[in-house]
Amino acid sequence: MRVVVDWDVCESNAICVGLVPSVFELDDNEYLSVEEEPDESLRPDLEKAVRSCPKQAIKLVD
Ligand code: SF4
Repeated sequence: MRVVVDWDVCESNAICVGLVPSVFELDDNEYLSVEEEPDESLRPDLEKAVRSCPKQAIKLVD
C-alpha cells in the first residue's frame, strides 16, 4: 500500500495529521510530509483520513 497525496490541492490543514500522526506530519514550514509506504495495519486509520480530507487529496494505492 502506498499513500499518495495530490499536492496541487492539499491545503495543509492537518486534518490527516490529527487522524494518523504516524503517517502524516507538518514540517517546520507547515508543509505536509507523508510516510509513503506505511504498515498495512494502519489501513483503517488511513481510509478514515481519505474520507475526512476536505480536499479529497489522499489516495491509497495497492
Ligand atoms: S487532510 Fe487533506 S488537505 Fe488536509 S493536510 Fe491532509 S491531505 Fe492536505
